[in-house]
Amino acid sequence: MRKFIFVTGGVLSGLGKGVVAASIGLLFKLRGYRVTLQKIDPYVNLDAGTMNPYEHGEVFVTRDGLETDLDIGRYERFLDEELTRANYLTTGQVYWNVIRQERAGAFLGKTVQVIPHITDEIKRLIQLPLDQSGAQIAVVEVGGTVGDIEGLPFLEALRQLKDDLPREDTFFVHLTLLPLLSTSDELKTKPTQHSVKELRAIGIQPDAIVARCGRPLPESVKRKIALFCDVDPENVIEDPDLASIYEVPLVLRQQGFDRRIAERLGIGSEEANVDRWSELVSRLRHPSRHVRIGVVGKYVELKDSYISIGEALVHAGVALDTEVNVDWIPAEAVARDGPALHLDGVDGLLVPGGFGDRGIEGKVEAVRHVREHGIPFLGLCLGLQCAAIEFARDRLGLTGANSSEFAPDTPHPVIDLLEEQAGVKEKGGTMRLGSYPTLLRRGSKSRACYGVDRIDERHRHRYEFNSSYRERFETAGMRIVGTSPDDRLVEIIELADHPWFVGVQFHPEFKSHFLSPHPLFSGFLRACIERGASSSSPSP
Ligand code: GLN
Repeated sequence: MRKFIFVTGGVLSGLGKGVVAASIGLLFKLRGYRVTLQKIDPYVNLDAGTMNPYEHGEVFVTRDGLETDLDIGRYERFLDEELTRANYLTTGQVYWNVIRQERAGAFLGKTVQVIPHITDEIKRLIQLPLDQSGAQIAVVEVGGTVGDIEGLPFLEALRQLKDDLPREDTFFVHLTLLPLLSTSDELKTKPTQHSVKELRAIGIQPDAIVARCGRPLPESVKRKIALFCDVDPENVIEDPDLASIYEVPLVLRQQGFDRRIAERLGIGSEEANVDRWSELVSRLRHPSRHVRIGVVGKYVELKDSYISIGEALVHAGVALDTEVNVDWIPAEAVARDGPALHLDGVDGLLVPGGFGDRGIEGKVEAVRHVREHGIPFLGLCLGLQCAAIEFARDRLGLTGANSSEFAPDTPHPVIDLLEEQAGVKEKGGTMRLGSYPTLLRRGSKSRACYGVDRIDERHRHRYEFNSSYRERFETAGMRIVGTSPDDRLVEIIELADHPWFVGVQFHPEFKSHFLSPHPLFSGFLRACIERGASSSSPSP
């Protein structure tokens, strides 16, 4: 069994196509199928690694080391599974493969063209996740909106694939927006009609329309969309604004969407078992307590830059019946105003990853504040590096200690370039990327969280803790509790004399899922809850 559910978008970008694709994937997984999800990003970059978060939000990293856009993270969080580089596809990759073949002489004597050579390669790559994972259903999301020039070869490839395969093996979902016109108080369908018209001009007739709308979709509007877009009225699905993205699968299921798709694909009628998911969603809606976490970062004004972190906090919060309120604090503001003003009243501090020296001093000051005040701290990648810099300056008396990334001439490079990075000149895909093992020290907080001696976590960095300072850190109370199996790289540091102070060189946020929160985030949050309970005075 090999089925494809394609998700395209119209009218506007940013309608939540990734959430809809992930929700469809989840519902089929909960119906008992093996499901995979793929994202097509039609830009020319080979991967998302060279784009800054302002351009494209967070860069996600797969287990096998591909830097992807944030939708891959979304899929993993919904599916509760790890995906691979085959699940992410860009124009850059397609052309790269075809041009390499052309140079190797694979097309000798032929003119290499968008149709069929580029579209053939796209079709091959779209089928790859199914071939590799043994999944039965692939949900494939096409980034951007119908009508974008760069998306055309992909849509043409989907059109061909639909004709290559038996009719019951493909299903097309088109996500659109129904704007509300306040003067007439009406949901307008014309942009949807136009985008479907555009899709049909390419040769694709959607099987279902998912309509984003800020209010319930009246039956009359549904019928109108069905008529103009030539879809069954039951296949016009409402996608309302919801408090949490994790409610989307439940809302789609309530409308029978997965059942309708299953019928058309000619596959079993067993219902999706959403009991556990629903239970977590209702816990999310009715938390029994709250904590406040400060996140001091460089790109905080754009929340998508730290999307996996925000979600990991939500997952751990649900498991602990706690609503996590996050204060997103710009690091430069901390440097300007001092940490006390911004961190007053937080129950914990998280310092995320990042690149470049902007905001570093603010992060270092924030770390000092929580170290001195016994406030729980979790440092991720650059967050660990800032904690090491702060400790070296304040506790080891190493004035001017820094990372050689920010101060190449520092007298004390406590964070230094990874040995393997020394000769690296190219920027794309050259960091230490993907999953690597870490051994945990017995008796550490991290070991207690994970409950095992060896873990695998995902990395994305060029710099690391400088091992020549290990002894001095240990002696002063900063323990090295996680290392690479050969003991050369420091992966986790912990403060001995502190309620909860952990820095990790990897990105645990990439492995947190709604159904399985990450143990380090849970441990951190538990410490924050305790801190919140002990610092808040009982109400009169
Ligand atoms: N800039 C740092 C490095 O390259 C940290 C990277 C990160 O936080 N992902 O090592």
